[in-house]
Amino acid sequence: MQRPMPVWIDLARAPARQQMEGLITAERMPRLLDAGVELLRPAEVSLHLVVPEFRSDARPAEVTGRIVALVSLQCQRCMEAMDHAIDAPVHWHLVASDSVDVDADADPIVLDGDRFQVLDAVTDELLLAVPSYPRHAECAPPDTQTGSDDN
Ligand SMILES: [Zn+2]
Repeated sequence: MQRPMPVWIDLARAPARQQMEGLITAERMPRLLDAGVELLRPAEVSLHLVVPEFRSDARPAEVTGRIVALVSLQCQRCMEAMDHAIDAPVHWHLVASDSVDVDADADPIVLDGDRFQVLDAVTDELLLAVPSYPRHAECAPPDTQTGSDDN
């Protein structure tokens, strides 16, 4: 039995451990399309949330998992559509503010009170996984060593 991925989770009421797996459709992540990222099929998300008994920024709740998605971007050379596969590992520390230091291998996710905004965090991870200057392989300059776009 699979429940839909929650929009948010109240950490004050969350169990010590929970596994969340599911598909997230583009309609539930409108910021993707706003950024020019079109989900070609629902993102496959698998997250494992661990909430320590005495949670604090020094002992934050942690999320590990994986996000797999296929998106369509606009090639910045020929302006045609291009597919881009995303397979992003997740390692989040859920902290009270973005000034908190987290482990070097983890990304801080700022809580909204006790709320972990799951869909927002997944949306941000997908946006980070998209190249800032997407180009088809065949549209990229053949010899990057010249480092010149001049014709
Ligand atoms: Zn192109």
